[in-house]
Amino acid sequence: MAQLNVVVLITDAGSAETGGPRIVYVNDAFERVTGFARAHAIGQSPRFLQGKNTQAAELALMTQALRIGQPVRVELINYTVEGKEFWIDLDIVPVTNAAGLCVNYIGIQRDITEKKKAQALVEQLAHHDALTGLANRRLLADRFKQTLAACARQPVYCGLLVLDLDDFKSMNDTFGHAQGDALLVEVAKRLTACVRDVDTVARLGGDEFVVLIQSVGNDAAEAASNAETVARKILNRLSQNFNVEGESYHLTASLGIALFNNAAFPMDALFKQSDLAMYQAKKAGRNTFRFFDAGMQVMVDERSWLGGELRQALAQEQFTLHYQPQFDTVRGLVGAEALLRWDCPGRGQVSPTVFIPLVEQIGLTKSLGHWVLEAACQTLVHWSTLPALSHLTLSINVSPKQFQLPDFVESVMACLQRTGARPDLLKLELTEGTLIHDLKGVNAKMTALKSYGIGLSLDDFGTGYSSLNYLRRLSLNQLKIDQSFVQSVLTNENDAAITRTIVTLGKSLGLEVLAEGVETLEQKEFLTQIGCHAFQGYFFSKPLPALAFEAFVSNCD
Ligand code: C2E
Ligand code: MG
Ligand code: MG
Repeated sequence: MAQLNVVVLITDAGSAETGGPRIVYVNDAFERVTGFARAHAIGQSPRFLQGKNTQAAELALMTQALRIGQPVRVELINYTVEGKEFWIDLDIVPVTNAAGLCVNYIGIQRDITEKKKAQALVEQLAHHDALTGLANRRLLADRFKQTLAACARQPVYCGLLVLDLDDFKSMNDTFGHAQGDALLVEVAKRLTACVRDVDTVARLGGDEFVVLIQSVGNDAAEAASNAETVARKILNRLSQNFNVEGESYHLTASLGIALFNNAAFPMDALFKQSDLAMYQAKKAGRNTFRFFDAGMQVMVDERSWLGGELRQALAQEQFTLHYQPQFDTVRGLVGAEALLRWDCPGRGQVSPTVFIPLVEQIGLTKSLGHWVLEAACQTLVHWSTLPALSHLTLSINVSPKQFQLPDFVESVMACLQRTGARPDLLKLELTEGTLIHDLKGVNAKMTALKSYGIGLSLDDFGTGYSSLNYLRRLSLNQLKIDQSFVQSVLTNENDAAITRTIVTLGKSLGLEVLAEGVETLEQKEFLTQIGCHAFQGYFFSKPLPALAFEAFVSNCD
């Protein structure tokens, strides 16, 4: 018995008061294997051998079997006295007395650590590429299936990127396969570093890599834009020199992208799509990416073209401000919102909803923001010379990125001083996005602006996700109910309820509430009825060029 390598452990039947079975006997092998002394073990629950990686499901199975007096066999991780993990195959048999009552449990356990290691190795080999350690085709297929299942629960876009190194074959032939392999290992590392943990990077052999990216966007446009970001990041990382065993190499790759959000999409078809796109990238001169979906490619190309045009737009004076009147039931016309317009040559008017995000991507936020501020202040100064317009306020839109600029407050003050515009006629429209980060810092800026008499308005209110609690603490003057609610107040009860709530909320906080996007008399009447008295929208007027706005004002009287 003393030389036996099988661990034998006997417990009593245990009871609720004692916290379950307690150890009454262990053999010599127990001491050898676990490192715990017999004296330490006796009287304890066998649970002291378990730890954080012990299989909870196996334990549950064990408890359940023993409760109904059945023998049971489980595979578990146990811990030695030094905290080292080892795997056991554990057989437990209940021993009953003459009356049929359980009096003891006998546990017999064998060490199966080596077997488990071998299994893990087989598993690793079966699911991973031996050279790079990346997922292989089989694991990729599994992950793909899981992704599709997730798509079925929640339709969100995912992407399959196929990547082929440019001219890798000739490089392999020139420098030898050992260097080639070492390079592939480096490529694998860089690819893995470019994506998130939830994404899968696989090597399907040779120099063909595949990246499965999860949840790239809720709609096609967002997905295309995010997939583009990933693709650029990958191309950029790969094009940096590789140093392998003292040699420096330069590599590029061609990438094909297929996006999907449909659980019924077969993997083969998607592979064909990404492959096709990858060949188009090769044809287009390599070191680039292509989308399978022509529409997405157009979208991405168009954005990159527009980005190029945008860089010149400021210098070439292609921006103007249009002015949309704002009304109040008591005083009539009280002000206007300045809305940016870009007259792009060969393209016509481009909507700010398209170009503002681009402005931020290409780093023009500050200069364009300055331009708008300057133009608005000059407009205020010009209006001050016209009796019919001298009392009007002018609102400008400030993006979260612009507001975050460290010298934002100073630049506004400098502009007011330079132009001589009245601060109390200038209003800044912020969005909830501005309030998401660093609320304290944001509020400090708002308080400073307000102390100079500048008005602060919260635009598109009701669409953000932020909590309403912050409102109380902010130095705001006005809430603008988002047009999506306003436009359906008469047709959608939910939106009507939200609108009512915003009006009540605004009143309780002492804020003016303005409804934007008012298109019909009926909407205006409903809003008036629920206590909203300020409006802006096509029902009153579309945004107008400067001169047309002045003409509009003189017709108002
Ligand atoms: P916003 O600030 O919420 O502006 C209101 C938008 O609704 C404007 O679109 C306006 O033309 C439109 N609108 C006004 N009344 C109605 C209506 O009755 N019905 C409908 N359907 N639409 C109406 P626009 O000019 O295309 O501007 C879109 C957004 O672009 C603005 O939304 C604002 O967030 C941003 N934006 C505009 N100018 C600037 C700017 O100078 N700087 C920054 N950062 N963003 C700007
Ligand atoms: Mg606005
Ligand atoms: Mg708005």
